[in-house]
Amino acid sequence: MQASADELKILARIADLDTASTRAEKEITQLEQPAKIDEIRAKLEGVKKKRAEIEAMLKAAQDKFDQLAEEDADLEKRAAEVQHKIDTTEGDHRIIGSLTADLAAIVERREKLDEQMTELDAKSDEISKVAAQAGQAVAQISATEQGLIKSYKEQAGELRSASLTAQDEKKQLSAKLSSEILQAYETARKAAGGIGLAHLQDASCSVCRTQIDENKLLQLEAEAPLTNCPFCKRLLIVDKE
Ligand SMILES: [Zn+2]
Repeated sequence: MQASADELKILARIADLDTASTRAEKEITQLEQPAKIDEIRAKLEGVKKKRAEIEAMLKAAQDKFDQLAEEDADLEKRAAEVQHKIDTTEGDHRIIGSLTADLAAIVERREKLDEQMTELDAKSDEISKVAAQAGQAVAQISATEQGLIKSYKEQAGELRSASLTAQDEKKQLSAKLSSEILQAYETARKAAGGIGLAHLQDASCSVCRTQIDENKLLQLEAEAPLTNCPFCKRLLIVDKE
């Protein structure tokens, strides 16, 4: 196939641009962030679930505390009422004795409540600490997730941009090639699955590395400067010595 030295140079450049573009696209698919993001999201879900459980425990303890505090407040009022009756009842020892027993029962119950509330208070403090730790873990994992998303966007963006730049330059250069050469190149590239251009180097194809025998070599040289590798069918640049 006929081709000028300029056309061969352009063709070689186009092949390099295709390689660069393909490599960048491949690198995007090989970026490690998507798998890591999936992993960290699963972890985040687990920690969030744990945090919700801890918060539910804290709420239950606080609800129980409120309930006991309410009972205690009621008892405080009743104690005052009973005390008032004791103070204002005159003479009848049986009534006073009964009221005094009521008051003692109230005091006893309030002591019990006080004990339980102290315990619940301590328990709530403990749970609060664990809840705060879970909250910190969620925040930390979320920050890691955001960092991964950001770095993925940056790296994928740079690679995509490199790929597009290469494709742009290829488009401009393609206009300078004959349609025959361009078509032969694209056909070979598609058939070979990516790399469409090879050079004859030391009687071998530079891409498939097949050694070419004397007879075929003579034929290739007759077809120089541009032919196809008889083995991999890639477009082959044959430099005349
Ligand atoms: Zn070959």
